[in-house]
Amino acid sequence: MASAINILNASKLEDSRLGELSQAVGRVFGIRTYVTSANLNLDKAFDASRGQCNSTALLAELLNSYKQSDEKRIAIVGVDLFIPVLTFVFGEAQLNGIAAVVSTVRLANPFYGLLPNEDIDFGRLEKEVVHELGHTFGLYHCHQFECVMRSSTYVEEIDLKRLNPCNRCSELLKVAMLNK
Ligand SMILES: [Zn+2]
Ligand SMILES: [Zn+2]
Repeated sequence: MASAINILNASKLEDSRLGELSQAVGRVFGIRTYVTSANLNLDKAFDASRGQCNSTALLAELLNSYKQSDEKRIAIVGVDLFIPVLTFVFGEAQLNGIAAVVSTVRLANPFYGLLPNEDIDFGRLEKEVVHELGHTFGLYHCHQFECVMRSSTYVEEIDLKRLNPCNRCSELLKVAMLNK
C-alpha cells in the first residue's frame, strides 16, 4: 500500500495551518500524512485566455517531479483550476493513481461575495482533499447524500457533506488500503 500521504502546499495558507488538515486527513485514511511546501511551476499549466490552470497538466507535473515514491501526493494550489470540458473544477485526481490537486479559490466565501469565514473555507478544503485522495485510492463518486465521495458542483453541496466516507465507501477504502 501507499506508505504515506504528502500534502504539498502551493497555496497562500501557512504550512502550520495545513498541519491540522493533515491530521484530519491522516485519521480518515489511517495512514501517515504530512505537509511540505511545494514549488510547482504553474506557468506550464496556466491558460492565459481562461485565467486558470489546467488541472490535468498539474497532475502530470506532480507525477514527473516526484517519481521515486509510492506516496500519494496532493497539491493545494491558490489558482483556479479547469479541465477543458468544464468551466472549473474544485480539484482533480488520478483514479487509482498517486497524484491529486485541489484549488482553494472557489472554496472561499469571498469568491461568492460572502463575508470571509476561514473556518468554513477550511472545512471545505478538508473535504475536497479527502475526496480527491479517495479517488487515488480507487473510490468512485458515491450517491449517498452526506458521503465525502459525492460529487459537488457548488460549495453548498460541499457544506452538506461530511468529512468521512459513508459506510460503503469506508468498506471499499479498507479493501483498497490492504491491496495498495
Ligand atoms: Zn470526484
Ligand atoms: Zn459513499
